[in-house]
Amino acid sequence: MEVIQSFTIDHTHLKPGIYVSREDKDFITFDLRITEPNKEPAVAPAAIHSIEHLMATWFRNSRVKEDVVYVGPMGCLTGMYIIMRGTYTVEDMRGLTIECLQWIIEQTEVPATRPEACGNYLLHDLPMCKWECERYLHRLQNDFHCEYTKLQITLDDGMVFADA
Ligand SMILES: [Zn+2]
Repeated sequence: MEVIQSFTIDHTHLKPGIYVSREDKDFITFDLRITEPNKEPAVAPAAIHSIEHLMATWFRNSRVKEDVVYVGPMGCLTGMYIIMRGTYTVEDMRGLTIECLQWIIEQTEVPATRPEACGNYLLHDLPMCKWECERYLHRLQNDFHCEYTKLQITLDDGMVFADA
């Protein structure tokens, strides 16, 4: 397998914040880092599932809804991916995400938690979702990080690992 020139992120020096992980033509992948990987507990599966429903609902109803390509959780459960079309910066996304989090922590139910609308509709936890969002909101407002330290990981068979 051909080794591609791709870089991944040094997760040992990663603070909660908002980072650009990919730029592909007109699409930008933003990493919304909610917890500090491997140092703090990851977000519980039910809580990040609720964050996904609420965050996707907010972004897809917001003033930038036409540019929202994808909103989904990271497999490591430490944050969310948002893919945007256009020329958004981390500061743009910081402002949007702060608005989104402020909305989430006021919600009294998670949208679309019905079997016909969700693949695991019982896996939700609104109180923990709001707890995570409140802490993340505080971090985005007071201790913002947006610069990745790049690290290349080459696997035993020569393939390069990239997680986004
Ligand atoms: Zn769902």
